[in-house]
Amino acid sequence: MINFDSERRRMVDEQLINRGVYDERVLAAMRKVPRHEFLPEALHAVAYSDSALPIGEGQTMSQPYMVALMTELLELKGGDRVLEIGTGSGYQAAVLSVLSREVYSIEIVVELADRSSRRLAELGYTNVHVRAGDGYLGWPGRAPFDRIIVTAAPPSIPQALIDQLADGGILVAPVGESPYRQRLQRYRKRDGGVTVEDLAAVIFVPMVHGSAAPP
Ligand code: SAH
Repeated sequence: MINFDSERRRMVDEQLINRGVYDERVLAAMRKVPRHEFLPEALHAVAYSDSALPIGEGQTMSQPYMVALMTELLELKGGDRVLEIGTGSGYQAAVLSVLSREVYSIEIVVELADRSSRRLAELGYTNVHVRAGDGYLGWPGRAPFDRIIVTAAPPSIPQALIDQLADGGILVAPVGESPYRQRLQRYRKRDGGVTVEDLAAVIFVPMVHGSAAPP
């Protein structure tokens, strides 16, 4: 039997604290959310390893460090309404859900949207709302959002997402023209203006254009 609690504590110490993630609320969320529950059983033994992992449909769940870093960069205050693009397994959405008021998450692959939505509900993450759709359009019916996190890489930030970001809001995304080679960037919207911080080189799956139902 694997002791998942101690695996998670070790993950936080070795992969997050050692690399400089310092926000105690983010570290507590990472100690709490059962990453293995968002993976097929065959991957439970490696669920807390220092790597991205396959989640089916050719997609991957980010490395724990990237999940923690992007969450920390969002500067969540507890009462935020958050939009995620790229639900995937639902793991990042679960981490966001314990630090936010409501999480809205859009996934373009219908099978992944269905599976993650069911899993999140089974695990009791009742403030996460998943829909199948194209993240390039955002979720206008639920906008504005205090925070937006994009977990697939667009060539540039879609204007719809900037439009749906609240004043004072923060958007974190991997951005790049070239697939699988992008920059992690943080956008802040204030008084109608947008500022950008360029943070690190990252590797995410490309954000694809789809024909999923409009929001
Ligand atoms: N956050 C996820 C990992 C995401 S991997 C997790 O915690 O597991 C990136 C996801 O973005 C994939 O599931 C992919 O299908 C999805 N995706 C790609 N393009 C998209 C788009 N235009 N709109 C919504 N989702 C998209």
